[in-house]
Amino acid sequence: MIIEIFGMGCVKCKQLMMNVQQAVKELGVEAQVNKIEDFEMLIRRGITMTPGLVIDGEIRSMGRVPSVIEIKEMIEVVGKEKTVQPTSATTKRDPSCGCSGEGVAFYPCSGGSNVGQISNDAAKSLSEQGLGKFSCLAGIGSHGEGFLTNAKRAKHVVSLDGCASKCSYNTLRHAGIEPTMHIVVTELGIKKAYDQLSTNPEDVEKVVSLVRIQLQQ
Ligand code: SF4
Repeated sequence: MIIEIFGMGCVKCKQLMMNVQQAVKELGVEAQVNKIEDFEMLIRRGITMTPGLVIDGEIRSMGRVPSVIEIKEMIEVVGKEKTVQPTSATTKRDPSCGCSGEGVAFYPCSGGSNVGQISNDAAKSLSEQGLGKFSCLAGIGSHGEGFLTNAKRAKHVVSLDGCASKCSYNTLRHAGIEPTMHIVVTELGIKKAYDQLSTNPEDVEKVVSLVRIQLQQ
């Protein structure tokens, strides 16, 4: 589990960090707790009020300091969501497919617009750079056993969506897979164009850089 605390180092941020550490200790869960003070990153991740608390890529609170009890409940909810089982699982993984099974798995929405294709190109670039594996979102959507097993084994499940419809994120969660990182291309200031499938390399690089930074945290 990855817990992120977003804030600029104020008293509230420090209190939130203490509460999170106490909650993790009391629950005895394995969690990596990261403090993020980079303002640009706050904006990119949709944190509009500090301190912000993000658990496994999902914003759980903003602008306040949840109590230890409340944070424990949030962690338990995430744990339960992760154990949701798919309703059908019959398809075996194609062994020639690039789905990872461990390490970092990238799931782009690969949608029919410039931003969907940017997510696709970013996943390709990240995969070619050896930062993880381009993985099959369609396989997750089909609830194929091998695809689901590999996604659950992955240390990081990176959901790359073109727009606010969040097709990759929703597909993964519908199959019981909780993304550890979620990027939405339009939230990076890139406008969606339905009639355009070509991508601007600079836009692709924006996504690649953001994923790279977040993987290093
Ligand atoms: S997230 Fe947006 S761009 Fe991607 S497939 Fe869905 S609607 Fe298309």
